[in-house]
Amino acid sequence: IPLLNLRLYSAIVLPYMNRTVAHARESSYAAPNGRVQSKTVVRRLSMVESEHDVALEDTDRLHGRSALVNNVKAAVALAGAVRSTLGPRGLDKMLVEDGGSATITNDGVTVLETAKVEHPTARLLISTSSSQDRAARDGTTTTVILTSELLQNALELVRSGVHPSIIMNGYQIALAEALDEMERISRTPADDSEMPAAVATSISGKVDSVVGEHLTRLALEAAGALSGEDGGKDLERLRVKRLLIKDGGVLDSEVVHGLVLPKSRMDMASSADSDGGRIAIIDGGMESPQLDFEASIEVISADALRGFHERARERMRAQVDLLSSLAVDLLVVRDGIAEDAATLLTDAGITAYRRYEREDLERLARITGSAMVRDARRITDEDIGTYSSRSERSYSGVKHTRIDGPEGGAVTVLIRGSSPSVREEVERAFDDALGVAHRLSADSRMLPGGGATQIHLARHLRAFAPSQTGREQLAIEAFAAALEIVPRTLAENSGLDPIDEILELSAAQTASTENGAWIGMDVVSGGKVRMDEAGVFDPLFVAHHALAGATEAANSVLRIDDVLWAKQDAQTPDWQSEMDD
Ligand code: ADP
Ligand code: MG
Repeated sequence: IPLLNLRLYSAIVLPYMNRTVAHARESSYAAPNGRVQSKTVVRRLSMVESEHDVALEDTDRLHGRSALVNNVKAAVALAGAVRSTLGPRGLDKMLVEDGGSATITNDGVTVLETAKVEHPTARLLISTSSSQDRAARDGTTTTVILTSELLQNALELVRSGVHPSIIMNGYQIALAEALDEMERISRTPADDSEMPAAVATSISGKVDSVVGEHLTRLALEAAGALSGEDGGKDLERLRVKRLLIKDGGVLDSEVVHGLVLPKSRMDMASSADSDGGRIAIIDGGMESPQLDFEASIEVISADALRGFHERARERMRAQVDLLSSLAVDLLVVRDGIAEDAATLLTDAGITAYRRYEREDLERLARITGSAMVRDARRITDEDIGTYSSRSERSYSGVKHTRIDGPEGGAVTVLIRGSSPSVREEVERAFDDALGVAHRLSADSRMLPGGGATQIHLARHLRAFAPSQTGREQLAIEAFAAALEIVPRTLAENSGLDPIDEILELSAAQTASTENGAWIGMDVVSGGKVRMDEAGVFDPLFVAHHALAGATEAANSVLRIDDVLWAKQDAQTPDWQSEMDD
């Protein structure tokens, strides 16, 4: 691949007491002679402890307690940026980019991923939140505020003389116990209304309730199209196409059982619709062979040039003949199709589409049962699929093509909304709803929302702590207290008094004779009620992943006792000498 820049990567890796601080920087240089070169330079600097201070002369360093204090501060600051979005009464954030374009969102992970954050600990929290997003689609804000609270409580313990390794150990014990207890109080949906309620809870803060209900229906319908298939957790991202459409309101959004794309056929002379037929999908191009970058042909005679073009045309005709002999009438190609092939294809009765993205080809292959073939010359009868209908239609002035297939397994969601920011936020909410709906179809166990689970777990862990010997007890209690950040923040964001709410909730749970763990606060109606009656459910996998992720992130920060910042950029070696050796 010809690169026009000479890229140099330099990195310093400092192994010190099993910990590694890496600093990498990338710079681009144009090589004066125009030669294309790419090079990776990694510098290693090993140290033994005695050399430490000398070797780190020009390095900023934070050690021991101050390293922890600094890291915890970063985590708390980051959590502070998203905590006001938690829950159905959480407020939105407006993110303004350099160019002035703004995104309005209530989604924790979107806020974090957009923010310009430099502190390495804050970055670690962001990646924990992103990992929650990938794995569970929901619970991203919860993960961040839990991590920050676990760290704050750990800092208190360190200040009172407990060693971080004891705290880490205690946190692990508490996590294992909490996860067990979570499974114990979870249950599967008792009737048909509970699954939609769980999906609706996951997006309750992001969109208002009428829109939430509509998106929940769409998400369950789209997830239903994928049910029973094995394809991992990301299946729903791959198979469900989201298409943002300018006109109409959010409530006009719909699920289409086919693939809709803003594309129109290559040759307007070919047919616009069809009641079905045979489809070939080429995962490549159907272009005349291109001359290589640096190659050139010397034309000796006009005949030679004509011969060259004639051969290219022959090759194209052979490809079209092959498709035609396989009775293909719809051709979809990832890359380009040579202009002079257009008429050949139309004459052969084949409607062609080009420049489809790979993901869309995969969806199309799925619904039509065709194989994606790299080279059009090698296509065989087995690779051909069938489609049941094709039509073209304009949405807000743009031609769209819809292709339906008999196999199902992929759908398109048309998301409408009055402005780009509305459509994007609706898309994010739909994404969460779909992700949760899809995962719930594999594991439908649910927990009570509204802080009920966390209050119950805190009480359970406080009772469990004395069964442990040693100072780990203190860490388990700190873990229990950290869990209360969720109901506390939910209460704060709803204008309620957090202390009163937690005390009342805990009292209500203890007083209840059966299934007290399911009593939580419904911040919409404002009462302490059974969460299954209020329809506020958190899926078990969301809560499970959030708690495990937060504990892991907190422990990895606690494990750090030394932070080294390289003061200067790593020196870039003189490129000439690098090229010589
Ligand atoms: P996250 O990014 O962590 O998913 P959300 O803003 O979606 O954050 O808030 C999720 C929290 O809000 C969960 O703890 C859930 O139980 C709670 N929640 C949702 N709906 C309600 C409700 N009606 N009453 C109380 N709590 C609710
Ligand atoms: Mg949520």
